[in-house]
Amino acid sequence: MLHEKQRAEVAQTALGLLTSGLIVNTSGNVSIRVGEHVVITPSGRDYKSLTPGDIAVVNTKGEVVDGEMLPSSETPLHLAVYESNPDVAAIVHAHSVYATAISTILDQLPTIHYQMTDLGGAVPVAPYRTFGTDELAAVTSQALQGRSAVIMKNHGSLTTANTLDKALGRCVTLEWCSKVYLKALSGGSPNILSADEMALAQQQMDSFDAKRQAFKAVKNQV
Ligand SMILES: [Zn+2]
Repeated sequence: MLHEKQRAEVAQTALGLLTSGLIVNTSGNVSIRVGEHVVITPSGRDYKSLTPGDIAVVNTKGEVVDGEMLPSSETPLHLAVYESNPDVAAIVHAHSVYATAISTILDQLPTIHYQMTDLGGAVPVAPYRTFGTDELAAVTSQALQGRSAVIMKNHGSLTTANTLDKALGRCVTLEWCSKVYLKALSGGSPNILSADEMALAQQQMDSFDAKRQAFKAVKNQV
């Protein structure tokens, strides 16, 4: 089977989205880029029992290269994001409750927590367009530029990374920060971290990444 390992990974992540409550029914989609192909969840198929064979493989034009099922209705969105972001190798799109709620009242999720450094800072809300259209693909991929997360107005969230695990982790972070912001808003006026505070948090993240790498290198030598 073509790209069997990646198809299994996409199926497992789609199930993970469902069981973690980030989506209901089939209201989200997951993909991995493999060379000139994109491996993506099918349209309208129950995620509880997905098998690698149910996952579609499409080319850069969205034509099915392998698979028995119709690819996700948001395939144009995934293709547009890959085309305009050469470093991105995985995408998670979810209709998660708190990010979707944020999309209906704000133009961006402000920097409510330092963990948003991993998302590229404040997360913009892309304009509303009909699902599955090239127009939605265009406005969403444009809003994403330079970041790894975007919220889609009256629709949901989209996160990217170089691996599916990281893209899923960012989806969880975005949903958690959206929840924190809405909870804080219900009690008063939330404090928002400044650009300087976020820059210091990023430096600290980088510093701990370097320390982890150095620690691992020493351990491997022992
Ligand atoms: Zn959607």
